[in-house]
Amino acid sequence: MTVLYGGIEAGGTKFVCAVGTGPDDIRAEARFPTTTPQETIRRALDFFQEQQDRLGGAICSIGIASFGPVDPNPASPTFGSITSTPKPGWRNVDLAGEIRRGLNLPVGFDTDVNGAALAEGLWGAAQGLDTFIYLTVGTGIGGGGMVGGHLIHGLLHPEMGHIRIPHDRQADPFEGCCPYHGDCLEGLACGPAIAARWGVRPEDLPPDHPAWPLEAHYLALALANFICTLSPQRIILGGGVMKQQHLFPRIWAEVPELLNGYIQARPILDQEEMQSYIVPPALGARAGVLGAIALARQAAGILPHL
Ligand code: ZN
Repeated sequence: MTVLYGGIEAGGTKFVCAVGTGPDDIRAEARFPTTTPQETIRRALDFFQEQQDRLGGAICSIGIASFGPVDPNPASPTFGSITSTPKPGWRNVDLAGEIRRGLNLPVGFDTDVNGAALAEGLWGAAQGLDTFIYLTVGTGIGGGGMVGGHLIHGLLHPEMGHIRIPHDRQADPFEGCCPYHGDCLEGLACGPAIAARWGVRPEDLPPDHPAWPLEAHYLALALANFICTLSPQRIILGGGVMKQQHLFPRIWAEVPELLNGYIQARPILDQEEMQSYIVPPALGARAGVLGAIALARQAAGILPHL
């Protein structure tokens, strides 16, 4: 009997649950809106219980790639909880604990972006690399990744969307929309920031609109900081805003300018190599749920080598 894994992509607007082993082998999938914690967790438990019955108990672990902030430290008493989210009802919800107790299975738990990074490392755009980051630019900005083959944790987990970047208020008087920091990276460059600044949804702005060079500028500033601090071997840029493919050439051009010859590494110095250095996700929108399955595999101690 094949050993199977359950994955929960726990998003702020929807949950995606799946059973399988990887990108080419998803046996069942369910998606439903994120409502109250009680109702949403119940639906997830019902889905996996049904699958467990149907598949003869083949699911050996569950992975949860969650919206956050979360507590990903297994040694902490609040491990597996969503912590200070502004989402009503979800603050201090013990998501991993509820799933573990409900299904009596080991549970792997991490941020959605660390999950997506793990999936891209196993099956996607970062295969064979041990140090890389995955940044999503959408309704918020979040980043995860690996350093030396381990998902980045530590004090808590990275909050790459909330770094402070230079903000020229003459060029861009928009105050920023982060409820915590105003004009942090997320406050200046997430989808809702673009919509608020220009009064038009990002997907309705034409490619030659001045919104885009400004967006590329903010993202390039952020990436220059991540390159200097984490030394990633590759950077994966996903999320709804990055569906604007024309952002990539702008970012490829600006990152080396900002680094100004200081980082002596070929992808930074060579525009052709740059194009395989800052890349879209290979798993696309599936990175989330596949990340959850990868976390389940990690929890079971069965990971294909990285
Ligand atoms: Zn912020």
